[in-house]
Amino acid sequence: MKTHDVLFFAIQVDCESTQRAIQNPALGERALRGLADVMAATGTKGTFFVIPRDLEVHAPIYAALEAAGHEVGLHIHVDEPGGTEFLGDRGADDQRRILTEAIDRFAQVRGRRPESFCPGYFSANDHTFGLLEELGFTHGAVSCPTRDLPSCASVWGASSLDPRYPHRHNRVLDGDVDFVDLPVTIDPASRMWGGSHPLDLRVELVDAKNHRYTIEKSLKRQVAAGTPLKQLHALTHNVFEYGEPADFRRQTYVGMVAAAKAAATQAGLVFRGATLRELAGEFRRLVPRPGIASSASRRKKSPPRKR
Ligand SMILES: [Zn+2]
Repeated sequence: MKTHDVLFFAIQVDCESTQRAIQNPALGERALRGLADVMAATGTKGTFFVIPRDLEVHAPIYAALEAAGHEVGLHIHVDEPGGTEFLGDRGADDQRRILTEAIDRFAQVRGRRPESFCPGYFSANDHTFGLLEELGFTHGAVSCPTRDLPSCASVWGASSLDPRYPHRHNRVLDGDVDFVDLPVTIDPASRMWGGSHPLDLRVELVDAKNHRYTIEKSLKRQVAAGTPLKQLHALTHNVFEYGEPADFRRQTYVGMVAAAKAAATQAGLVFRGATLRELAGEFRRLVPRPGIASSASRRKKSPPRKR
């Protein structure tokens, strides 16, 4: 099957049950087991972005998730005396130090460096993408298009609604950084939190019916725009009772996947659950990064127009 016949569906799970504001690793563990269960039941795969402390506390669970075909990447909420939780209000040296420390803790537990990254609050600035490339990350969920939360150093303007290579000097623009940024699926026209945040495919935000509108609208836009990679990207956190069949979030997720499958069929596409690593790989295959065009494609380029 060719990729253009597929609708990829991914969900990222931000894992932070040991965070200061939550401090409930037992709930985190129940959520992870429940999510693994509901993902198996729906034919979907998770990308678990994990803060270092959660990774240390739940090490065997993440090993099992990865063995089952899910992805484990790095999540960061900065926890330093006197500072904010955000990456996006820090200079390059500070961000490099914070990222390097977290990478080391990840590698201690997992025996490898993380390849994917998501910052808490989608907080980043114009230093961040170049640093992620420098530190060997290949992909992640960094931008949140149209989010306008200066208090969280998370301001994204009209950044791309679709997977992209980001710009190395301006986080909002597309560019040539060797890192695939995979934004969560949003409806830019539906605003929440006083207009500062779009309705996104965050499971816990609304019910399945509302998510269905976002799913249908996003896919319709992608088909009309002819985007090379048709994909939906949902989001949740490991702080809900996903193991309980009657849990509202679990039922919402089941409804979201059903809506995505129906939308795929309607559009003549085949539904496929995927990790963000798989999405990034498909994107790299379909969209060459600017500046690394193959010699063959350079030769094919049309000659410059006469002036
Ligand atoms: Zn978080």
